[in-house]
Amino acid sequence: MKKIKKTKIIATIGPSSSSSSIMEKMMIEGVDVFRINFSHAKHNEAKKIIKQIRQIDNKLSLNTAIIADLQGPKLRIGKMRKNSSLKIGDEITIDCKSQLVGNNKKMYVNYKDLAKDIKKGEKILIDDGKIILKVLSSNKKTQIIAEVVQGGEVKSNKGFNLPNTKISLSPLTDKDVKDAILAIEENVDWIALSFVRKRSDIESLVKIINKKSEYSIPVIAKIEKPEALKNIDEIIKVSSGLMVARGDLGVELQSSEIPLIQKRLVAKAKKSRIPVIIATQMMESMMESVTPSRAEVNDVANSVMDGADAVMLSGETSVGKFPTEVIKTMSSIINKVENSNLISLANKRPKDQKSKRYITKSICFSAAKMANDIKAKAISTLTNSGYTAFQISSWRPSTHVLVFTSNRRILTQLNLLWGVKAFFYDGFESTDSTVEEINKIAMENKYLQKGDKVINLTSMPIDQKGMTNTLRISEL
Ligand code: PGA
Ligand code: MN
Repeated sequence: MKKIKKTKIIATIGPSSSSSSIMEKMMIEGVDVFRINFSHAKHNEAKKIIKQIRQIDNKLSLNTAIIADLQGPKLRIGKMRKNSSLKIGDEITIDCKSQLVGNNKKMYVNYKDLAKDIKKGEKILIDDGKIILKVLSSNKKTQIIAEVVQGGEVKSNKGFNLPNTKISLSPLTDKDVKDAILAIEENVDWIALSFVRKRSDIESLVKIINKKSEYSIPVIAKIEKPEALKNIDEIIKVSSGLMVARGDLGVELQSSEIPLIQKRLVAKAKKSRIPVIIATQMMESMMESVTPSRAEVNDVANSVMDGADAVMLSGETSVGKFPTEVIKTMSSIINKVENSNLISLANKRPKDQKSKRYITKSICFSAAKMANDIKAKAISTLTNSGYTAFQISSWRPSTHVLVFTSNRRILTQLNLLWGVKAFFYDGFESTDSTVEEINKIAMENKYLQKGDKVINLTSMPIDQKGMTNTLRISEL
């Protein structure tokens, strides 16, 4: 039987991957989700790419998901004159009001309240932390003076991180709101928000979605600031997914902090039964080379073993030289490790016995455990909201999670979740015939074969599409 990987691959679209033929090859090699990065994508390009993805996906019948990734309050310096180098001990003026062209004495940053918000002694990191400054003074209105702690050449429009500063900027810029509305109009499956700091940041995006969309598009919180780590439990309560955004997180914190943060965030996401994505520099060397480094192979494998739902590629597929080869390599690493019995993920049964959905939660948990016990090959679930798919997937059963739904919206959305494959199904006559039909669909799609055991979750009576209340085992 063909091997179908359960950990999902997210590929960021960019100049290297925006042609239909490359995208098709990437999907065949194992991309499950495409990310459109609104830090770079223009609206007409984004629309075109979404259309292309949906077309190829239809042709291949894959249910590929699309994430629109909003830039959030990302800080950047302005234009710089060529060869503007800073040396240790130099003093530099940073202006937050007039968009001057910078040099080795002054520069501009796109944060109009910088001088008001920042405090003496706080750290400034430019270009992913290559350049480090320390704040000496501020005139509280238009500019600050900082001392160079680590020097180097400063190039135009590079990122500007303030790990210790309490930033007063709104969580959604005007650009983010426009980008979110486009994403909603184009029916993307997920929206991710960058530089989330607190719970209300996510809530303001959800509010826009609820106002502009008839569907509730789920939101992913990108965790890339120390402040978000502090508020993580509150953020998780209102998020439908998490991203361990190791790129900016590694700038704002010591990079040696990241491995344990990754493990902690995975555990927290799994406890709340929401998907978690591990992002950035997973296969960085494959931007230039057809083979990854040993360390990268281990990083991808370890992320799978930590319990990630998905691993993400950024530069590798957006501007790298080998956008299809990197997918193929990543797929093979995932396939190699993900079914190992050396992986043990903590999974205690759901606690919240008072919640309305406790019965459903409990059935999903039991199905996952039982599937391992009886060596079932799949768990199937009928769902309209996708809720049971989130639940079952999070318990990481040794099986595939096959979702049958008449809700076309969730067919692609659920493709981000570990082990989940969704099928369109709208015959809900009797439990007997439904179970028979969905098992047949699973066999036709090579997820099951004769002799396999499968656990079917349904709700009886079936035509009422109520809460899951029935667990049935079939032997094909
Ligand atoms: P980005 O987010 O690629 O949008 O910056 C991911 C990260 O920071 O790791
Ligand atoms: Mn980032």
